[in-house]
Amino acid sequence: MNFSIRQLFNEFLQKDQILTGSDLDTRYHHIWHMDQSLQAACLLLPESTKEVSMIMKQCDKHQLTVVVHGGLTNLVGSTETQEDEVVISLERMNRIVQTDTSSRTMEVEAGVILEHIQDKAEENQLLFPLNFGAKGSAQIGGIISTNAGGLRVLKYGMTRQLILGLEVVLADGRIISSLKKIIKDNSGYDLKQLFIGSEGTLGIVTKAMLKLEEAPKSRNAAYVGFDAFAKVVHFLKYMDGQLAGQLSGFELIWKNTYQQMTSTSDAVRPPLPYDYNYYVLVESMGADQIKDQQSFEFLLEKALESDMILDAVMAQSPSDVEWFFRIREDVNNLVDFMTHDQHFDISLPIPLIGEYIADRYERLKEIDGVEQVYAFGHVADGNIHFMIGKENTSADLKKAIDHCIYDGLKAIGGSVSAEHGIGVHKKEYLQICRTTEEIQLMKQVKNMMDPKGLLNPGKIF
Ligand SMILES: Cc1cc2nc3c(=O)[nH]c(=O)nc-3n(C[C@H](O)[C@H](O)[C@H](O)COP(=O)(O)OP(=O)(O)OC[C@H]3O[C@@H](n4cnc5c(N)ncnc54)[C@H](O)[C@@H]3O)c2cc1C
Repeated sequence: MNFSIRQLFNEFLQKDQILTGSDLDTRYHHIWHMDQSLQAACLLLPESTKEVSMIMKQCDKHQLTVVVHGGLTNLVGSTETQEDEVVISLERMNRIVQTDTSSRTMEVEAGVILEHIQDKAEENQLLFPLNFGAKGSAQIGGIISTNAGGLRVLKYGMTRQLILGLEVVLADGRIISSLKKIIKDNSGYDLKQLFIGSEGTLGIVTKAMLKLEEAPKSRNAAYVGFDAFAKVVHFLKYMDGQLAGQLSGFELIWKNTYQQMTSTSDAVRPPLPYDYNYYVLVESMGADQIKDQQSFEFLLEKALESDMILDAVMAQSPSDVEWFFRIREDVNNLVDFMTHDQHFDISLPIPLIGEYIADRYERLKEIDGVEQVYAFGHVADGNIHFMIGKENTSADLKKAIDHCIYDGLKAIGGSVSAEHGIGVHKKEYLQICRTTEEIQLMKQVKNMMDPKGLLNPGKIF
């Protein structure tokens, strides 16, 4: 098997671009499962779009199923593989092709890591606004394929809003390339949007044209304490209105989550005491550090005077801002304390969040085997994450927890996936937030674009 699989690719790939057998022992399917070796027929390391295309032509001819690997940080099992599957990792396609400061665009290969894109933009006094905890590992191809969100969606939108063009290899090896630098293009269907968020099931992203923003000249942040959820919503509207476009982050952390996130080391020490029910990390980005800091402080003082908020502490330096965000971003402070963990990223209308989450905390406590419940999230986007610690990995316990979180979302127009996607973990819950007709149409699109079902089989549906 290993010999024949090598033969399929060694006409156009070098020996070190084809990993088989024991070479796979040091490869894995997820950054959190580095103790489990990858199960696959082979792992291929293409260095160009042409090579990806030739690989897909061979896979199409021999009906080999393919799973694409990016940074392996997805949280829904979408990079899991079977032992007869071909894995394509885009890690060697990691070149930043061009940064154009006039059109404010960056052309990148799919394997470039998010943090490198952020750094390159910053070197050019520009900003690629996407930001989240896994930025040091997640690759732009994976980010596009999951339509990642993160900490600045409120101001800049999700990945979908930040992509001007894509180059994609289809299941049969055809290359679809549209890497224009233009923002407006209404010439027919916007095909790139089909691939964004499709979790590697419709095509393989090999390059992208990213939309950059002017870099902000000021950044201010504060932690704010609340007694009631309704006041969090009030404060969101107040800050957004008063900051007139400068509000860039508004992250909510429930009390027990804040306690855990800030208890592990001095690097994540608590900026506010443990006296409040809710903690918000609020961030603004603007044009003048001194003036913006003064008006941010003034708004917090007014909110304190009117009892909208109970307490606030403002970052006094860039290193304080780093410290504040480290608390929110480093979810290992939660995961490390769990025997086993289960993750959620639900979406629901903002005013209903307080009651829905309080109710789920109560219900989860009643499930045998649930050890910890932590909630936090991008509340301004109506997106809340749950991390649940549990004593075992039994299917029954998983299902009981899934149902507890998801049942109720349909009635209030929520979603089982705000940003992480469906993968394998949420397949059976897709119908909670999509109609039968929508799912049927999705399957028709999949069948039309990948009639042999080669790309990431068994994911989403
Ligand atoms: C600590 C932590 C924090 C996180 N925070 C957030 C957050 O705030 N917001 C958020 O949205 N997500 C978050 N995530 C989830 C994750 O980081 C994102 O889903 C990320 O976009 C995945 O990128 P990746 O390169 O790791 O993709 P992978 O995990 O490697 O792959 C994800 C999917 O994309 C497919 N894929 C990968 N590359 C390509 C390609 N070139 N072409 C076609 N398909 C491809 C894979 O087959 C798979 O289906 C977080 C994860 C962690 C571990």
